[in-house]
Amino acid sequence: MPTLSSDDAFAEVKAKVDLVKVVQEHVRLTKRNKDFWGLCPFHQEDSPSFKVNPQMQSWYCFGCERSGDVFTFVELIEKTDKRGALQLLAERAGVELKKLSPDQRERADLRKRVLDMLKLAAQYYEYVLWKTPAGEPGRRLLESRRVGEETARRFQLGYAPAGRGFAEYLRAKQRSLADAQEAGLMRRDGTDFFAERLVIPIRDERGQALAFTARTVRADEQRKYINSPETPSYIKGRVIFALDLARDEITRRGHAVLMEGQFDVITSHHFGVTNAVASSGTAMTDDQVRLLKRFTDELLLVFDSDRAGRAAMRKAATLAAAHGMRTRVVILPDAKDPDEFLRAAGPDAATRWEDLVARAASGFEAGMAEDSAGLNPSNPNQVELVAGRLRDWIRQFPEGLRDGYAEAAERHTGISRHLLLRDPEPAPIPRPTNGLAGRVAGKKLSAGSYLVQLLAVRPVAFERVRPMLTPQELDQSDRAIFVRMLESYERGGPSGLEAELAGYPPEEQDLIRRAWAAPPPNVDDEVAVELAERIRLDHMKGRHSGIIRELSEAERGRDLDMVARLEAEARELGRAIQEMERRG
Ligand SMILES: [Zn+2]
Repeated sequence: MPTLSSDDAFAEVKAKVDLVKVVQEHVRLTKRNKDFWGLCPFHQEDSPSFKVNPQMQSWYCFGCERSGDVFTFVELIEKTDKRGALQLLAERAGVELKKLSPDQRERADLRKRVLDMLKLAAQYYEYVLWKTPAGEPGRRLLESRRVGEETARRFQLGYAPAGRGFAEYLRAKQRSLADAQEAGLMRRDGTDFFAERLVIPIRDERGQALAFTARTVRADEQRKYINSPETPSYIKGRVIFALDLARDEITRRGHAVLMEGQFDVITSHHFGVTNAVASSGTAMTDDQVRLLKRFTDELLLVFDSDRAGRAAMRKAATLAAAHGMRTRVVILPDAKDPDEFLRAAGPDAATRWEDLVARAASGFEAGMAEDSAGLNPSNPNQVELVAGRLRDWIRQFPEGLRDGYAEAAERHTGISRHLLLRDPEPAPIPRPTNGLAGRVAGKKLSAGSYLVQLLAVRPVAFERVRPMLTPQELDQSDRAIFVRMLESYERGGPSGLEAELAGYPPEEQDLIRRAWAAPPPNVDDEVAVELAERIRLDHMKGRHSGIIRELSEAERGRDLDMVARLEAEARELGRAIQEMERRG
């Protein structure tokens, strides 16, 4: 049998396995119409909201909104990665994968040994922290930070004692010290790299420890935190700290809270903000944004209020926007970081946190407010200065967002949006012709364009709208984009739109990105249903007047059959309209 490169292998395996059969090994499915339904294996539930579509070979859960194909299903259920899922399914389908070269094999082995070693180290440190006298300094540090044992254990915090404790432990277990050095845990002389530090495992989104960060317990130590070096298992810019613990809550709440420090995240979880994560000691990277985007489309940024924090916030906001994610910014009153804020709030932490979240402005607005603070509009020099800053700020966002942002900045500062969009981009930004210009303050949005925007932000609302509305009932200007989005949704579920957006006509892409950046006022299923009803009603009224016009034609032409038919149609439609208006 010929061996396959990995792209071919995915296609070949996908063609040979049946998603329904694979799912059935884990979930009891019942057939309803053309789909299969069962209890979702990825969240707790009593009634089935997990749907498998055999035609599309795709699955979707209406409860936790996870979705995907056979590979994502196996990835999640077996807690493996894409490659691992491919291997499992290839074996099952009898597809032979490309053989690893000796070099690749060696790297894979080393990676596995390093991961094993890290797991062992995490267990050892945790044991020392809670079960030995040597763990006392670590316990004291946690107490002073008011982190309880339950939270500490969720994060698998541990303590590395002074000296060569870990080396001795490995010797006793007859394990390789070389592997421990390879994993960045031990110096050449056998002393522990993290000695006299509280160690915090950095785990991937499935809970596997990839590295450690460690905080000193000594007051005289200059370096407060030290981190594992990059190893075969750990590339800093690819990991999101605490994503394994936060992922369910992120899905449930619809946003992730992104913080700067690991300890901020630990405190936050302790006080009930369990959708908090951190970018793991680096500025945000593309890989990290992509990883987060698997779980949510919105990031709530909580950064320090100093200059570095503000710069990091701006970087995260523009990077997220480049990936089609929305951001909001939480401003902490009277506290330098979330840790300080939550500990000061004590028992009120959860309520005070909710207040802050409710007040959080968008990432763009936060930068705009900073850039225009203290502006005196009657001072031309100041106007030019602020206009320059805002121009730079707007320019850091994807082109499709800039027009809307310039309008927002004009409203906020009174500086003309033309001035804010001027230079160095000479080409004017194309404006969508359909409906969306209606977002401009004061103008009213048509029901059709409102619905399109809502569906762009919340594709899952198609489930409610689809049975109520045929595309013909929409205005012509909204119809094409509606149909395209519906098709993307049917192919790819809630993430289908994003996956296929690049193939949309530019003006539709523009429209959708704007909706992402500045969603319509209310985005939920009930509003979607209301809009769909209004659209139907408008369409029926339009048809009604059309029939009345045809009716007078027919009367003039004395076409009696036609007159009778049209009269009956007009009557029926009139009744339906009345009925709908009474209900609505
Ligand atoms: Zn689910």
